[in-house]
Amino acid sequence: MSVLVFTENWDGKFKKVSFELVSYASKIAEMLNTQTVAVSIGDVQDDELNTLGKYGADKIVSVKNDQLNILDNQAYTSVIAQVAEKEEAKVVVIAQNNMGKAIAPRLSVKLKAGLGAGISKLPSSVEPFTIFKKVYSGKAYSNVVIKSDVKILTLAQNSFEFEENQKSATIEEFNATVDAVKTSVSDVQKQTGKLLLNDAEIVVSGGRGMKSADNWGAIEELAEVLGAATACSRPVSDEGWRPHGEHTGQTGKIIAPNLYIAAGISGAIQHLAGISGSKCIVAINTDKDAPIFEAADYGIIGDAMKVLPELIEAVKEIK
Ligand SMILES: Cc1cc2nc3c(=O)[nH]c(=O)nc-3n(C[C@H](O)[C@H](O)[C@H](O)COP(=O)(O)OP(=O)(O)OC[C@H]3O[C@@H](n4cnc5c(N)ncnc54)[C@H](O)[C@@H]3O)c2cc1C
Repeated sequence: MSVLVFTENWDGKFKKVSFELVSYASKIAEMLNTQTVAVSIGDVQDDELNTLGKYGADKIVSVKNDQLNILDNQAYTSVIAQVAEKEEAKVVVIAQNNMGKAIAPRLSVKLKAGLGAGISKLPSSVEPFTIFKKVYSGKAYSNVVIKSDVKILTLAQNSFEFEENQKSATIEEFNATVDAVKTSVSDVQKQTGKLLLNDAEIVVSGGRGMKSADNWGAIEELAEVLGAATACSRPVSDEGWRPHGEHTGQTGKIIAPNLYIAAGISGAIQHLAGISGSKCIVAINTDKDAPIFEAADYGIIGDAMKVLPELIEAVKEIK
């Protein structure tokens, strides 16, 4: 028996979320009195694989195969299922991001496993296996009992504080059967020098109150001085002021940064559904009755066009 965790890497280096996942999985393994097995797919060197031991992995199963150099959801699902069966996994932990959302339901079918999606806390009990999750776009909470023998959990990124829990992990190479990959990639345009929204600890976000794409300079400059990623509300990306990948909310990205700065965003429930996991929310809005202030830890009633330049100067001064 084991708790299996699927780790993600970027050019051979584990993403931060992988350490969160391993930390989370190792806590569940403690609750079940079993071991944590991490599965890594792709060309990751042993030094890097060993870092997973620091966060509580007892064993690392490394799957290297040239066919897996591109992300093919079906091929990845099949590999994870093979490792899960080999390791007799009772719980499989995956990130609640684009990759996780594509893999987890497929894996759930393959393993006949119940799926708990978008979890941000440890199960309150393992007998029965009870998870706590937000429902109705975060308006309510529910305790869900997963009754299947194997359970799959997708963990919301940045929701679980990872901590060191050094284990002397063993590394095992696994020769998985990889069916012919059905997709091919003709062109890759890598984003460089820009923080990925899901990985960012600070996010500066703009809404329709920013009035036009031409006013985004202040959002970008504040993000730059803070080392933050930029985001936006849905109407902003619908208008084409910002790329769709930046839109947060019910139909966009769900993020949980340490600091979320919302400028000119009213705080509609659909927007809050994507950002309410943020540890600290700062809202800038001209309307003192805007709903965003109910969700905010700090509120600035004012014109974003004036407040943002002042914030930029203040941050520069502190730096
Ligand atoms: C099914 C469905 C799914 C949806 N999914 C999403 C989603 O995923 N994400 C999302 O964001 N929305 C989503 N929406 C849309 C959502 O309901 C809201 O319409 C949207 O979030 C509003 O965006 P906004 O706050 O930028 O704009 P508005 O609601 O127009 O708010 C603009 C705010 O800016 C303030 N303002 C104006 N001028 C200034 C200024 N100079 N300085 C400071 N503040 C100023 C105003 O007071 C106002 O509060 C969804 C809607 C539906 C029906």
